[in-house]
Amino acid sequence: MSAIAWDLPDDIRAVREGLIDFARKEVLPRHETHRALFDDPRRLYRKDGRFSDALKGLIGEVRRAAARAGYYNMCVPEHLGGGGLGHLAYYAGWEALFHLCGPHNWLMLYVISHWAFGPSRLLEKVTPEARERILGPMMAGEASMCFGLSEPGAGSDAAALATRAVKDGEGWRLTGRKIWTSNAPVADYCIVFAQTDPERAAARRGGISAFLVPTGSAGFEVQRVIKLFGHIGGDEAELRLEDVRVEPWQLVGDLHQGFAAALYGVSLGRIYNSARAVGYGRWALELALDYAKTRKAFDRPIADYQGVTFPLAESATELHAAHLMGLNAATLLDQGHPAIKELSMAKAYSVQVGYRAVDRAMQTHGAMGFTNEVGLHHAWHSLRIVNVADGTNEILNRSIVQRLLKGDTEV
Ligand SMILES: Cc1cc2nc3c(=O)[nH]c(=O)nc-3n(C[C@H](O)[C@H](O)[C@H](O)COP(=O)(O)OP(=O)(O)OC[C@H]3O[C@@H](n4cnc5c(N)ncnc54)[C@H](O)[C@@H]3O)c2cc1C
Repeated sequence: MSAIAWDLPDDIRAVREGLIDFARKEVLPRHETHRALFDDPRRLYRKDGRFSDALKGLIGEVRRAAARAGYYNMCVPEHLGGGGLGHLAYYAGWEALFHLCGPHNWLMLYVISHWAFGPSRLLEKVTPEARERILGPMMAGEASMCFGLSEPGAGSDAAALATRAVKDGEGWRLTGRKIWTSNAPVADYCIVFAQTDPERAAARRGGISAFLVPTGSAGFEVQRVIKLFGHIGGDEAELRLEDVRVEPWQLVGDLHQGFAAALYGVSLGRIYNSARAVGYGRWALELALDYAKTRKAFDRPIADYQGVTFPLAESATELHAAHLMGLNAATLLDQGHPAIKELSMAKAYSVQVGYRAVDRAMQTHGAMGFTNEVGLHHAWHSLRIVNVADGTNEILNRSIVQRLLKGDTEV
């Protein structure tokens, strides 16, 4: 890591070190022991594309161990029973895990509660009854959820969603479709965003609400698992909701104000993905440096050729800049600053340079760079996707330029 002139606060530094120890004890050995499972997609996925029972078992073990150790809920508000740490801890924790574990040891994805899959600050305003009924198993790592915002007709323009919540007595009935919903094939609950006031929603003045819906509810259907990049299974799904009954206790936050919660969730996703890109980028860069020192061509280590090493120097520079941007954006959020521009910049820049670092590491490895055992392609795939998930690069540029044109020109 390039030198950074200031250090993380003591508590976050300690958590970061603790996470690294935890991953060394609970994540890396599980991958080692179950290498045959992880190397065989036919054992990772069922025929319908969902995770196999063996994989779900391992994920559950890591989640529950992380919950017992206090890492899983470290960024969940204290009044919900979590550790109360903020955005900087979330960024630093994820960056450390991605850097240590790389794309091979991906059970680490379940060490800290991912904002869309488990408890986080997004659930800050759940009702006392939801806390009572749902939060316990989620905090213990026994149950998980998913985040149903995107729809076939509403991606970048998420506020154009068409799912309706029609009043029915005290509660509502939800009807609509969701797509790309991560973790949906295995989730126990889904936060569904729906129009509760179509007129206000059409005028983009609120009118959208968020509901916590058990995925086993009558009328809730996982229609299909979406398979990305030639995989035989996947973690994203398409959902259909048909007259799904929800009660007032299932409302998350204020009625008609759910879109603000959706945007906050996406912000957490941007922090997570900025950290993922820098962590994977650093992992790939170190792999490339090691390889360049040992691989020989024309009687010399390829590290002697500037054609090989200058791209690595560029990646080190870019990753250092991205790291500082991520730390800065997370700190601004902890200070109560909305950081729309800074977080958009950090996410867009980090995923582009992280992806480029992985691509350059592939090139450094020659043909070895495409092998399953080196595994660079896993990081390459995942960062390619992150150029779209949680706000495409174009939408992030749109947010940045909107802020600039409003006079927020500080850079
Ligand atoms: C792996 C993965 C996981 C995901 N997980 C979830 C999830 O858990 N929950 C969820 O709700 N969603 C999820 N998404 C959906 C994600 O949020 C959307 O894919 C994203 O918002 C883009 O929407 P879209 O794919 O419909 O692209 P579109 O909105 O159709 O955009 C297509 C292209 O047009 C460009 N474009 C659109 N508008 C503009 C504009 N104004 N200016 C310039 N360019 C523009 C886009 O940048 C893009 O290049 C996930 C996506 C992926 C890939």
